[in-house]
Amino acid sequence: MNGTCEADMTALKIFESLPPGLLEADAASLEDLLGGPALIHLPGRRPEPLFVTVLLHGNETTGFEAVQAVLRRWQGRELPRALSLFIGNVAAARAGLRRLAVQPDYNRVWPGTETPDLPEAALMAEVVAHMRPRRPFASIDIHNNTGINPHYACVVRLEPSFLRLAQLFSRIAVHFQRPLGVQATAVAALCPAVAVECGKIGGQASIAHAAEFVEAVLHLDHFPQHPVPAHDLELMHTVAIVKVPPGASFSFDGSAADFRFRGDLDHLNFREMKPGTALGHRAPGCEARLLVQPGGQAPLEGEYFDYADGEIRLMRPMVPAMLTIDPLAVKNDCLCYLMERIEFRS
Ligand SMILES: [Zn+2]
Repeated sequence: MNGTCEADMTALKIFESLPPGLLEADAASLEDLLGGPALIHLPGRRPEPLFVTVLLHGNETTGFEAVQAVLRRWQGRELPRALSLFIGNVAAARAGLRRLAVQPDYNRVWPGTETPDLPEAALMAEVVAHMRPRRPFASIDIHNNTGINPHYACVVRLEPSFLRLAQLFSRIAVHFQRPLGVQATAVAALCPAVAVECGKIGGQASIAHAAEFVEAVLHLDHFPQHPVPAHDLELMHTVAIVKVPPGASFSFDGSAADFRFRGDLDHLNFREMKPGTALGHRAPGCEARLLVQPGGQAPLEGEYFDYADGEIRLMRPMVPAMLTIDPLAVKNDCLCYLMERIEFRS
């Protein structure tokens, strides 16, 4: 790839009105329509914009389709609040992939990232710099995942405004600190921010749910400052991120591999797993262990998995999220997150 082409891929396009054809476009055609990652500012009655980010992962189309649905509804009318829409990885969207092989993950390169020297990190820093003077009211970053998961919101702060925003989307909220370089962390410095997980790609109900959420926040005048009642929100926090070590093979269909995981692994998402819960088998003679990385600031202590008799068993009570049986998702992201419930006072 030559320098010019690389520059094009990460050059930010800015629009001060709706680009013609955007409401009819599919995600795969956005690179041609917009010319690259695009920040689109639309006016509204309240000037502090709702900031919505879609397609940071190019195959996760629910967010883009939800925003299209909202904008179609408001076509020819003034929005109740200004909307700034960032459409992220249009090159990967063209290919129907989370990211292209030559690209970093577009949700790991926001300010605070471990890779600040990448052109994509400069792109996200530019987006944040553009948004700061507009004094955004709130931020929503919309995602899909590959396993069976309920819809839930992720927050980096436990302040009432963040939890209110989360609660408008789902009764389930996850507090996280890692991975670094995600949109919701970078934008939390500007306004209440959530990343929302809308289940698998392609469901009409998910698009409708995300659209309803965006619409609700567009109508919101302010965030009540009193705490969210504890019974209105199931709150968890990410303790660990679990990965298959590089070089180790794995399967979900029982075929020979270093790690042979259960085929129904993703059915365990958001369920309380007791110590001893079996996730699958490790091949005889294989010494590889699952990588368990901290989900927060503090280093992890002790072991999370036991491999006695070739069985992979959890050693402590945990609630998993984003367990997936999609090999590509395991390779590109992780096997799952492990969470604990947080009790919070109302
Ligand atoms: Zn995503």
